[in-house]
Amino acid sequence: MQINLLKDIVVSIIGSNGPKVVDLLYGQKNVSEFLIAKKLSLTINQTRNLLYRLADEGLVSFIRKKDPKKGGWYTYFWTLNSGKSLAKFRGHINKLVDEAKSNLGIRSSARFYFCPTCSKEYDEENSLLNSYTCPECGEPLQLKDNSALVLKLKEDIKRLELVLAELDIELHSIAEVEQKTRHRKMKVEQRKKQKERTERRKEKERLAKKLADKLKREKSKRKKGKSKR
Ligand SMILES: [Zn+2]
Repeated sequence: MQINLLKDIVVSIIGSNGPKVVDLLYGQKNVSEFLIAKKLSLTINQTRNLLYRLADEGLVSFIRKKDPKKGGWYTYFWTLNSGKSLAKFRGHINKLVDEAKSNLGIRSSARFYFCPTCSKEYDEENSLLNSYTCPECGEPLQLKDNSALVLKLKEDIKRLELVLAELDIELHSIAEVEQKTRHRKMKVEQRKKQKERTERRKEKERLAKKLADKLKREKSKRKKGKSKR
């Protein structure tokens, strides 16, 4: 699992406490908010606020339990949703790739000019409108060499696509585990229902037999009564 990726995305939402929160929740289930608050040196309310923000994004989920020791107040237990976090992060990276690609398209096909004095950049249309002179200082504009930028964009795209590929492997394996868990739960549920059905049927049979016995007894009582008369 890409724990550093998880940290990046959590930091982008809650800031500097992000890495600690991930370390506390990663690979765990239902972590008490008291433990989290203690490790972050925050109050329970501050801790909940942080975690609510992550919950709004679907990155963590919680269960709450009434604590009789704490006067019946609810205690929250938090679980990190790695799959959703990574899916969200993937969306973010994907957007960066799209931006870089469209930027690369523009930079490798269109011409840009710049003013050597103000270092301001102008696209072809604006340069033409200003007769290829800087509208701020009147200096003649120069054609910009985009080759370094094009190279950098290409490298960025390659790097980001590698991250995407890693994320896809990670997301795939998470989906597989989730599916297996779902399947297992379904089977347990099915077995439970089957057992309940069998028990209901046995109970019905038992009641039917009881009723039949009762009727039989009453019938024979009536017969005895008649014969006495
Ligand atoms: Zn200028």
